[in-house]
Amino acid sequence: MPQADNSASTLFIDGEWVPAADGRTRQIICPADGQLVTTVSEAGAADTERAIAVARRAYEDGAWSGTSAWDRGDLLLRVADILVRDKAEYARAESLDTGKRLVESEYDMDDIAACFRYFGKLAGQDAGRLVDTGSPDAISRVQHEPVGVCGMITPWNFPLLQVAWKVAPALAAGNTFILKPSELTPSTAILLMKTLAEAGMPAGVGNLVTGTGAEAGQPLAEHPDIDLVSFTGGLHTGRKISALAAPTVKKVALELGGKNPNVVFADSDFDTAVDFALMAIFLHSGQVCSAGARLIVQDEMHDALVDEIVRRAEQIRIGGPFDSEAETGPLISPEHLRKVDDYVQEAVAEGGVLRTGGKRPEGERFANGHYYLPTVIDEVQQGSYAVIEESFGPVLTVERFTDEDDAVRIANDTHYGLAGGVFTSDPAKAQRVANRLRHGTVWINDFHPYLPQAEWGGHKQSGIGRELGRAGLGEYQEAKHVYQNLRPGPQHWFSEK
Ligand code: NAD
Repeated sequence: MPQADNSASTLFIDGEWVPAADGRTRQIICPADGQLVTTVSEAGAADTERAIAVARRAYEDGAWSGTSAWDRGDLLLRVADILVRDKAEYARAESLDTGKRLVESEYDMDDIAACFRYFGKLAGQDAGRLVDTGSPDAISRVQHEPVGVCGMITPWNFPLLQVAWKVAPALAAGNTFILKPSELTPSTAILLMKTLAEAGMPAGVGNLVTGTGAEAGQPLAEHPDIDLVSFTGGLHTGRKISALAAPTVKKVALELGGKNPNVVFADSDFDTAVDFALMAIFLHSGQVCSAGARLIVQDEMHDALVDEIVRRAEQIRIGGPFDSEAETGPLISPEHLRKVDDYVQEAVAEGGVLRTGGKRPEGERFANGHYYLPTVIDEVQQGSYAVIEESFGPVLTVERFTDEDDAVRIANDTHYGLAGGVFTSDPAKAQRVANRLRHGTVWINDFHPYLPQAEWGGHKQSGIGRELGRAGLGEYQEAKHVYQNLRPGPQHWFSEK
């Protein structure tokens, strides 16, 4: 069973565990209680550049890109089996790094194994397609090839899930990669590299650098030997990655933030609407890119719905990852706690009505963790800071609407477009609204389900490209057109004189 490495040799380059070239390390601290989790290597640009050179060599030698897609798929299926075998160890490591409840980390591990299984099965199914040339004397096909060397940069909220959405399709397509997970939550990425090696991944195909974005991450966007940079994180960083990647015209895939509407019509089942509104925003203390942070409720149901959400929010039990009573956990860091609190203060200063929360919970047991109370801010105005900005914390804002057109207009009034929910007992209305929402995923009478076989990604400034589904594999492939003349002979395009 893999163990997180405590010896601070946590860079995985060319199949070897090595320390940072300059010997720097970083302590990983549990956000729930401030305890030391582990110490990892702090890579600098030189380490990442070395990993890029290794991944380039491994790509060019064809030891992975030249294998059959079925064999690559088999490796991913073996990875899924190991993830199931070692689920307890993985989930514990994820919870220690993030502070999230153990049961939620266990769900994440199930989703991660399912992701590897999906891409493992998909890998060998698509040999490209024949194209009609219009001539019996020529054949033409479009085939899919790996993009090459992929740089992957991931966030801290679903650390290994976000990694899996990149690593599984990248390997299925025959790429090599360098992964830079969030500097706050590297433990499960370290475990994954051990699992990939155990499953038979050749040395140099998958490489890991643990460190900060500015130092270890930036070369993955800038370096000419990176063919694709795939980034998941905040909008501000995504813009920067895009700009850094532009001079080398590499492929760029961005999974960014969201300011996700949850539209509740007055004909919804009341208890269901309350239940999902709470789950949509307060799951993992709102640190979910697709969190239903904007409750947009029809006038007739507004007062009763908000009263009940406030009552229930005040009963949510907060605690650490191994507290079996806890229903939600801490924020990731003191900096993030400050950011969430600043957001709340700003929302209230501009006229939002604070109905509950807006501060840290009291009590000794919360003193060493970054906890924040579930917060509800009513009567926020369109165009205001509270509506535009992502808090990425346990903060629900409430807006009202009158009719269907009004609901769609308000829900689309954001520069983000990641996900949204619609609650109504009228199936035709639900479909009409879903079709009009400019968001990459729409849930009807539900919130948050992700399926590995369904594309995930953002409209507008929530991103570029898609993860999961067939398009998620396509992200890591180049299409090549191969045309063959079956009866070659002079064409006499130019005269012979
Ligand atoms: P972040 O943008 O601060 O960091 C994400 C990653 O980028 C980290 O690994 C970080 O080290 C790295 N990074 C930072 N600066 C960099 C630079 N200059 N060059 C290269 N890499 C750099 O985001 P975060 O705080 O870790 O995550 C929260 C954000 O992620 C939220 O906005 C959330 O909505 C978004 N997110 C989106 C999705 C999605 O699927 N769309 C999923 C999860 C999280």
